[in-house]
Amino acid sequence: MRFKFDHGHTDYKEWYAQLEKNNETARKLAIIEAVEKEFNKTGVMTLDMEKKLVSCLHITTLNGKLNGFYSISTSVLMNNHCQNYAKIPGTICEKCYAALSVSNYNGLAQALDINYYILNNYLLSIEAFKSLPFPTTNGYARIESHGDVDTVICAMNYNRLCKAIKYIHFAAWTKNIMLWCNAFQREGKATNLNFIVSSLYVGKVVDISEKARPYVDHVFTVYNDPTTTINCGARNCNTCRNCYDENTTDRPFYINEKLKGEGKTSYPVLIGSVEWKRENNNITLVFHDMTNDRTTTKHYKTERGARAAETKFYDKINRNKVKSDIENNI
Ligand code: SF4
Repeated sequence: MRFKFDHGHTDYKEWYAQLEKNNETARKLAIIEAVEKEFNKTGVMTLDMEKKLVSCLHITTLNGKLNGFYSISTSVLMNNHCQNYAKIPGTICEKCYAALSVSNYNGLAQALDINYYILNNYLLSIEAFKSLPFPTTNGYARIESHGDVDTVICAMNYNRLCKAIKYIHFAAWTKNIMLWCNAFQREGKATNLNFIVSSLYVGKVVDISEKARPYVDHVFTVYNDPTTTINCGARNCNTCRNCYDENTTDRPFYINEKLKGEGKTSYPVLIGSVEWKRENNNITLVFHDMTNDRTTTKHYKTERGARAAETKFYDKINRNKVKSDIENNI
């Protein structure tokens, strides 16, 4: 299998080496491995095999500003474009929040890694995507909440997914405009998709080529200049819907958001990890909190209890990290 949990970052390598793959990840990897074995043997990808790959896709429940929305996303930590943009001074990617949040939750990181692997390596059919039980509370959903398309294959898959799931109106954010436009030119843009181009630089609206312009519904730019008029200020996207509404003509084309958390580190540092040990029916978790250099060990009788404790731990150290960043004016 070509899949590996390796983000090409020293900290991640060390971190992932400590992780035990959770049950859900192991289950999905077994499915992918079986499909690939079959494919290598026959050279044919049947609809049934495609549906098995679709069944491994993770749908993320969003919260905060996006409370009430679901998304399908790949991992920013696997994305070559994102990693390169993050090295360029003045870009919004220098201050990537998605990288911080993905790296703090190993369950989410592994699920989005698998999404990345499937969506960038296999071109799946509209028919296969119809089997994805995409939840909705408000009829809208986001594409790429924690990453971006990395290949044309991924953009084509998302476009096909939109065509398959007609009961949802999607909005996709991207900095990789031409990958999407290439997909649209080949297969036609899904009618239930708002295509939102995200400006790479803080305070500078991205140039859109003549070729791309017909496909673009909104341009989203983040500003750090207090004199700029900000029109993305709603506490909740569900009450605003400027980016999501299918009627784009009554909504602003240029969407301006205020920069949040000026000066965050571009890519996350290792702030903690949880080691899982199983013996008979008991689970032992060893929590390494690197925000205060403390290690604690606890025992659990159920998988559910251990998972809840792990989530609580990451929530806590993430809060500590954000608090200390603010106190130290980072
Ligand atoms: S403009 Fe509205 S819908 Fe778009 S990101 Fe901002 S709050 Fe959400």
